[in-house]
Order: sequence, then structure tokens, then C-alpha cells
Amino acid sequence: MKNIVSLCKRRGFIYPGSEIYGGFANTYSYGPYGVELKKNIKDLWWQIFVREKENIVGIDGPILLHPKTWEASGHVKCFTDALIDCKKCKNRFRADQLIEKILNIKSESLNLKSISSIIKENKIKCPNCNASDFTEARHFNLMFQIEMSKTDNQNEIAYLRPETAQAIFLEYKNILDSMRIKIPFGIAQIGKAFRNEITPGNFIFRTIEFEQMEIEYFIKEKEWKKTFEYWLEEMLNWCKEIGLNSNKIETHEHKKEELSHYSKKTVDIIFDFPFGKSELYGLAYRTDFDLKQHAQYSKSKQEYIDQETKEKFIPHVIEPTFGLDRTILAILSNSFEEETLENGEKRTILHLSPKIAPVKAAVFPLMKKQELISKSLKIYENIKKRWNTEYDENGAIGKRYRRQDEIGTPFCITIDYETLENDTVTIRERDTMKQKRVKIDYIKNNLENFLKIF
Ligand code: ATP
Repeated sequence: MKNIVSLCKRRGFIYPGSEIYGGFANTYSYGPYGVELKKNIKDLWWQIFVREKENIVGIDGPILLHPKTWEASGHVKCFTDALIDCKKCKNRFRADQLIEKILNIKSESLNLKSISSIIKENKIKCPNCNASDFTEARHFNLMFQIEMSKTDNQNEIAYLRPETAQAIFLEYKNILDSMRIKIPFGIAQIGKAFRNEITPGNFIFRTIEFEQMEIEYFIKEKEWKKTFEYWLEEMLNWCKEIGLNSNKIETHEHKKEELSHYSKKTVDIIFDFPFGKSELYGLAYRTDFDLKQHAQYSKSKQEYIDQETKEKFIPHVIEPTFGLDRTILAILSNSFEEETLENGEKRTILHLSPKIAPVKAAVFPLMKKQELISKSLKIYENIKKRWNTEYDENGAIGKRYRRQDEIGTPFCITIDYETLENDTVTIRERDTMKQKRVKIDYIKNNLENFLKIF
């Protein structure tokens, strides 16, 4: 993990947030390569789950929703963790996690009173200062509250959305009325969510501001089981698509006590991160809970009318959620390698799939000679119109290759004196380091095919 974090900073993928002010805990900035990687993942996800699916449409809803939304959704009441403070060092912990970690017992079914007495009876020590002097456990709501100023001097409390889902439920009716769409259908959204996590950490795994790629899939109740299976398969296929090693993936079905207030069945997709196996994605059967709640709280009709049977009903919902930042961490840890070459030299590589690699190709003149430079720049200008490409003429060619290996660039194109004679270049593939000579014309139109020629 340390090596990944260091590579991310050194090579411009991810920086700690607000560093010049001493940092702002659990916030991160995506740097130039990080933002490209992120964008490629989002684009691929949108392509697969929105554009290629005829019954899924996208939206981009607001982060600030009407405050009643969160009363209806149950978040004001239920979106809480059990919190305790160490009275001595003032550190804050999730009481349930502390019990689970130290006593190795499951805590989902325990109420606050039992949690507090277990902590006292077992004289659990503060992981920070070793004192056994905690406050009572209490509920802590994970939603960030903000104050909206109103003209009558009565400020109103609003919330930064803790999940993208509710923005979708609020537009369900508009989509139905404007899109001539029929059940089963899905609404997809990629966007930010905010959670005031008590114990964030593990780099970008758990942060207070993150992005989700989410679909609410509306169905008839009787279809829920087979739709759930379908989406589980789709999510596992996506993991393959982005190159995650299937040995590192497993699923975990929530027990009754673990289920969120809105869910009747939840399966987590677990990834083997460098710090241990943890939730990457979640798939939930949200039933008709959300639409029913919004119908009641907003006094609006949320029914679906089947045009053929004239049957009226509130649809049920299957929700596949993909955390974008966790996807990036999974991809980085899955693809990071420190390889020792035959000559004993070390190289760091990110084995990123060319589909998501931030830079697709780098163009180098073999030497810093004017005729090679002008030819290289011409080729570079040409390729970069279609692919994110870099040009580099500085330093030994070996060093330039290593730099690209480290940011996961699949191909390096080198221009030498033979290029000037017969319009051929060498293409070097990142993982095998093999080189091939091809005609220049081949490059622009066939970058997709490069993998096949090695
Ligand atoms: P966890 O149990 O890890 O807190 P969760 O079950 O609360 O996660 P969901 O509410 O199901 O998570 O959110 C859906 C997805 O959003 C998660 O699978 C994860 O990928 C992502 N996610 C949730 N919380 C965070 C966070 N604090 N930082 C980064 N990503 C997050």
C-alpha cells in the first residue's frame, strides 16, 4: 500500500488534499494521470451500462436535494454509526468496529446499551492511548449538514447527499413521462456522495467525499430474484472488463442483521485490497421502499401503469452500486508490480488494461537529433488527436520506457533513422517489453489492435 500511495503522488495520480495547509484528512486530489484514469473508467462504465443497454438512461442530478428527501429515505433516522470517544486522548472510534476487531464478535444486532456494556465489561483499551475510559456509545449521523440561508432569517438545514440513489428516485416520474420507457428499465448516474465517516482511511478506500456509479433498475416485484442474479453477473463481468484478477474477487451475502433499512437482500462484491478483503461494490434489492416513501412524503403519485394490462403498481428496485474511488484503488493495487529483470535491474509497472490506461502511447525520437525530433512530433501530433499520447525526447531511451511503465502506458513508439528511410517505427509493449517494427500508417488507425500484434 505504501508503494502505491507513493507512486500515486510521485507520478501525478493522486495527491493528499490541501497539502500546503498541512493537509485536510481523508480528502484527495486526482492529479493529471489520476483524472485521466478516472475519466476512462467512467466512460467505459457509461458505455457498457448506459449506451449499450437499450433500457437504461442516464441522469445527472443535484448534490443538494430537498431536505424532506432524506426524511423519506430514512437517512435522517437510520444512517448512523455507533460512536464512542476516548475521554483521555479524545480520539473517536466506531464502537461496533472496535468490538469486532478486539473481541472478534459480530456487532450488527447489538443496540447502543449492549455495545457500551460490552466495552466496559471487557475493559477494552483505546487503540491510540491504551486507556479504558470511553464515553457511552451514541448514534452519529453520517450525513453532512449544511445551512441554507432563507430570507425570513430562518435558516434551513440541508444535507450533502450521502448516496446518489435518491437523486435518481426523485426523477423516476419525470423519466417515465418524458422518455417513453417501459419496465424493466434502469436510470444510471455517476456523481459525488459525501459521508462524515467516523473512521475513514486506507488511502482512497474510505473518504468523506467520493464518487459512485449507480443504477436503479425498476422491475415488477415478481422479477426480483432473476434480476438480482442478472445484475450480480453483470457486476462480476465488469470486474473482468477492468482487468481485476478473479482470484481477488469474492461475494458476501448480508445476513439479516447486516441489511440496511431499505434492503431485503444485499450482496457485496469483495476485493482483496493490500490491507485485507473489503467491500468494493454492493448490489441491493431495495424493494418498493424508496418510491413508496417518496409517494407518502411528497404526496405525489409514483405508480407505474402497464399500458397493456392497465395494471397500476409501484415498481420494485434492484440497485447495483459501484464506488469509483474504490474501483481506482482496486485497479491500482491489482496492476502494481515491482519486477526484477534478468539483468537484476528493477522496474515498476502498472499493468493497466489499455482501455483505461491514462496514456495510451508515448512517442520518442531515439536521439535528440533535429530530423528525428521533427518526424516524431509529426507522428505525435497525428496520434494525439485520437488517443491520449505523450511526447518525450529527454534522457536515455531506457529511462523514458521506465517512466511510461510506471504510469501504465501500454505502448511506446520510437522513431529512429530507419523511420526516415522507410516510414516504419518500433512499437514496444509494456508488459513483455517486446518490440516490433510496423509501418507508420498502421499506428493511427490500429491502436486497438496493438495488443494483438504482440
Ligand atoms: P462500507 O460498508 O464500506 O461503509 P457501505 O456498505 O456503507 O460501505 P454503500 O452505502 O453500499 O456502502 O455504498 C456503495 C458503494 O460506495 C460502496 O460499495 C463503495 O464502493 C462506495 N463507498 C461507500 N462509502 C465510501 C467511502 N466513505 N469512501 C469511498 N467509497 C465509498
